[in-house]
Amino acid sequence: MARVFNFSAGPSMLPESVLNRAATEMLDYGGSGQSVMEMSHRSKVYDEIIVGAQQLLREVMNIPDNYKVLFLQGGASLQFAAIPLNLMTTGCADYIVTGQFSGKAHKEAQKYGLANCIASSKEQNFTTIPQVTAADLTPGADYLHICHNNTIFGSKYAELPQTGSVPLVADISSSFLSEPMDVSKFGVLYGGAQKNVAPAGLTIAIVHEDLLGKARANTPDVMNWKLMADNDSMLNTPPCWSIYMCKLVLEWIIQLGGLTVMQQRNEYKARLLYDYLDKSAMFSNPVEKKYRSLMNVTFVAKSEELNNLFVKEAAGAGFVNLKGHRSVGGMRASIYNAMPVEGLEQLVQFMADFERKYA
Ligand SMILES: *Cc1c(COP(=O)(O)O)cnc(C)c1O
Repeated sequence: MARVFNFSAGPSMLPESVLNRAATEMLDYGGSGQSVMEMSHRSKVYDEIIVGAQQLLREVMNIPDNYKVLFLQGGASLQFAAIPLNLMTTGCADYIVTGQFSGKAHKEAQKYGLANCIASSKEQNFTTIPQVTAADLTPGADYLHICHNNTIFGSKYAELPQTGSVPLVADISSSFLSEPMDVSKFGVLYGGAQKNVAPAGLTIAIVHEDLLGKARANTPDVMNWKLMADNDSMLNTPPCWSIYMCKLVLEWIIQLGGLTVMQQRNEYKARLLYDYLDKSAMFSNPVEKKYRSLMNVTFVAKSEELNNLFVKEAAGAGFVNLKGHRSVGGMRASIYNAMPVEGLEQLVQFMADFERKYA
């Protein structure tokens, strides 16, 4: 069996040791005689898994005690609606649009109140991140929403916008666990797990306690953060298997040395590719250097023919899912935590050979 280097933006690679561990435990988890997929979410054996996953996430991300960790379903996309439903008490909130997902979050929020787009990098084709200060916020806004890492365009915040006393809400779907983050700077952090944390099906929200209990009356129960927090994410059946996989991924991160080591690894991997792109005569990356993503590296060759040929030849050589998002074109290498350094070393070698061949 030959495993490929999978550059998919999500669902994406999981650490091989985690997959092996899951395979070992597949038929009989911890002597229970059952797979984690089969067990009751109310059983003692499963309780240890979900409680353990939460404890490890708190440890790895250094989450302060006055934040709740919620294991949810529905993807980051459902949180685009949950955020205004839980937080828009005055009927007004601010959004910064730096790519497709922040645009979708902004659009969804407009169903529930006045969602102001206070800054956007659309005019620059989302190749940069606009500067925003507290003075740019709408007076009375309930929160400011940002997308921390723009999965499709390959950009990310270099420093967070200053919001004063206004809670900062951030979609971290594609930067989750990729680097240390000061959770106390945020009101809410949330993201789908399928990029860097676990298989699809799990969405994690980390919510400051002061922001709970403000949901409007017609909020569906499973979208109500306070209800979910009061029920330890077990108001209904949680995504049991994904939470178990999340726990294994967190154990893997701890074993490697935590998020500081993860960040160093990710910076090293990203630098291998960006350094090559910056000196290549065939390929280039369009993002302003300061705002380049560590997780999603976008690039184009000199022509559409070369783009297509590259994606095809790369796939043939075992580098799969390098095609850019359908809305952007070109190429994108998503290089999440689980992508080994060799994946980048070999990709860069392959690109250099391709460049020589078709120069
Ligand atoms: C993938 C992604 C989403 C969408 O997530 P779903 O779980 O599919 O709803 C939202 N935001 C960002 C930044 C993403 O990368």
